[in-house]
Amino acid sequence: MKNKIKLSSVTTYKFGGFCNNYYELNETNINEYREIFSDNDNFILGKGSNVAFSDKGYAGNVIHPKFKKISYDENTSEINVGSSVYLPDLARFCKNNNLINSEFLIGIPGSVGGAIKMNAGAYGWEFSDLFVSLEAYNFIEKHYETLDKQQIKFGYRMSNNLERKIIVSAKLKGIKGDPKLIKERLKEYTTYRKNTQPAGIYNAGSVFKNHKEYSAGELIDKAGLKGYEVDGVRVSSKHANFFIAPKGSKSSSLYKLVNHVKDVVYNKFDVSLEKEIIFVGNFD
Ligand SMILES: Cc1cc2nc3c(=O)[nH]c(=O)nc-3n(C[C@H](O)[C@H](O)[C@H](O)COP(=O)(O)OP(=O)(O)OC[C@H]3O[C@@H](n4cnc5c(N)ncnc54)[C@H](O)[C@@H]3O)c2cc1C
Repeated sequence: MKNKIKLSSVTTYKFGGFCNNYYELNETNINEYREIFSDNDNFILGKGSNVAFSDKGYAGNVIHPKFKKISYDENTSEINVGSSVYLPDLARFCKNNNLINSEFLIGIPGSVGGAIKMNAGAYGWEFSDLFVSLEAYNFIEKHYETLDKQQIKFGYRMSNNLERKIIVSAKLKGIKGDPKLIKERLKEYTTYRKNTQPAGIYNAGSVFKNHKEYSAGELIDKAGLKGYEVDGVRVSSKHANFFIAPKGSKSSSLYKLVNHVKDVVYNKFDVSLEKEIIFVGNFD
């Protein structure tokens, strides 16, 4: 069923006006929407932890998958996971089953679908390291398809071949590992995040992508922009690649801040920073 929703209620930044065409999808109702999704603007929403919706709202469809199953298959050594599973829950599921290498997901507040699309990563790990294949619904061709790692061609915080597709589920490598090491890594990564990233204030993680030749946060810091703000939205003084928003602030302010920082860094260092955050809707 279609609903009206305030988009600020479904993202970590708490930005966004209204959307009149909000759909929650599950295994049983996906077929009802085939026609609606085939010829409209659609935005597929995970946990909204990498998104800033416009204050003016979104005129197209916002599709919110709710595929939450998770299981481990001992025979294939694969984890079968729904695209809406929360990444810290996946990390905990792996810990409880002594499955190693997903510990880096413990502090990333997104979903499996968002992590595949963004190739989310931390501490040298990327989601593509775990990935085997996915099942997606292609809403242009109106059929399900299975895509493997070669077909997705993951890059740094990016994937390919997923346009106009709703990721439904994925198969991930489930390698048995040393429970002590899994616990140690979870603890180390949680502590590191607490010490280096702003907590308890709205944000969407890194604003700009890092690059093998530079760290976006270091360039922003060197440009003297820590603490710089537009109408309350400001560059965090704890981590310069996190831009934080107090309650009630606007995504148009974040948009202006992001463009300002990009311009200053370009003028000082001749480096064109690439946005990691996705701005959705009209920002003119
Ligand atoms: C405090 C904080 C810390 C963070 N730390 C990290 C970090 O260490 N590393 C990192 O990489 N990121 C980090 N992030 C950013 C973010 O959590 C990740 O990019 C995450 O993978 C986004 O997942 P999501 O479900 O929130 O996706 P959303 O933000 O909802 O969407 C992101 C993209 O994925 C697409 N998408 C989502 N679900 C589906 C689906 N089912 N099918 C098809 N497309 C889909 C959306 O259309 C959009 O293009 C952080 C964010 C916060 C707030």
